[in-house]
Amino acid sequence: MKKFNINSLVRKNIVKLQPYISFRDHNEFNAPVLLDANECPFGEFNRYPDSSQKKLKNKLASLKNLSPAQIAIGNGSDELIDLIIKIFCEPKKDAILMMNPSFAMYGFYAAVNENEVVKLDLDENFEIVKDDFLKVTQERQIKIFFLCSPNNPTGNSVKDIEFFIQNFDGIVVIDEAYIEFSENRSGIELLAQYPNVIVLQTFSKAWGTAGARVGTAYASEEIIRFINTVKAPYNVNTLSQELILNLLEDENKLKENVENVLKEREWLKEEFKKIDCIEKVFPTDANFFLIKMRDGKKVYEKMLEEEVLTSQRAPAIPNCIRINVGTREENEKLINVLKGIAS
Ligand SMILES: *Cc1c(COP(=O)(O)O)cnc(C)c1O
Repeated sequence: MKKFNINSLVRKNIVKLQPYISFRDHNEFNAPVLLDANECPFGEFNRYPDSSQKKLKNKLASLKNLSPAQIAIGNGSDELIDLIIKIFCEPKKDAILMMNPSFAMYGFYAAVNENEVVKLDLDENFEIVKDDFLKVTQERQIKIFFLCSPNNPTGNSVKDIEFFIQNFDGIVVIDEAYIEFSENRSGIELLAQYPNVIVLQTFSKAWGTAGARVGTAYASEEIIRFINTVKAPYNVNTLSQELILNLLEDENKLKENVENVLKEREWLKEEFKKIDCIEKVFPTDANFFLIKMRDGKKVYEKMLEEEVLTSQRAPAIPNCIRINVGTREENEKLINVLKGIAS
């Protein structure tokens, strides 16, 4: 790792920015009379949420073996992607790097912020070509590299992540939205070694609470301070904070979800082998499959007709459809529809 100075990477206006501090959230009181925030004095959810999400961060810190100051919580990890781009990328000037194909939201938020998106085409096994990575990062300055592992929509994990961290001067974001379904270790353990890494996780996938909109960023205290500075003060609502806190008390819930999904993933994998219209099922470390059909358009439309909604990946990945694992009943319906499609 080369010399790393966070302030030289952050946009100048953001280095200077003072965070909005909610006075009551940053001081200790015993039984305060709350007349400071123009709230209604009646009602169950009449108060603004804890802007610093203290309880949630303390709980996550103990589970992840980090300090609470190394954790930022977002309105989904989508919000954190947006904030990370805003912190480091000067509009109309800086660029981000992403794998291609990968999660569309990196490109989306970069476009909103008027940052160029440099795409690193993956090889036929959806792996990064190291020489291409070295070439593009030597040719031009890039602020953020979004590494999605396991990658959406391809399902495979990025190999040799440390190589990319060691050979990159900017910020490396490891998006682990699907890490719970994979046997690989989390990038969180790299944080102690690499001050330029941010790990994103989410409660939207394995935890089963996409509707609550809660995602997490783990990084150095310096980086987390910037995220906390630019975020909307009340970005995570009270209901969601409480829901996730309760969820974290019961570790079996996650285990149960993951075991069920992995069991169904195995079942589907076997069933797919018997289906004529499928050309290839790509290996997956996530809760979905990328599948190459003999005629992707036909299969996608036939499924849609039967109200089985899947994600068509053509033209970016020709003839490919991304299908996530459902309940046994849903999976059976999927298989029945696929069986009815002639190749
Ligand atoms: C689903 C997904 C997310 C999760 O986004 P949330 O905003 O937390 O729901 C993040 N990254 C990737 C790659 C995803 O597929």
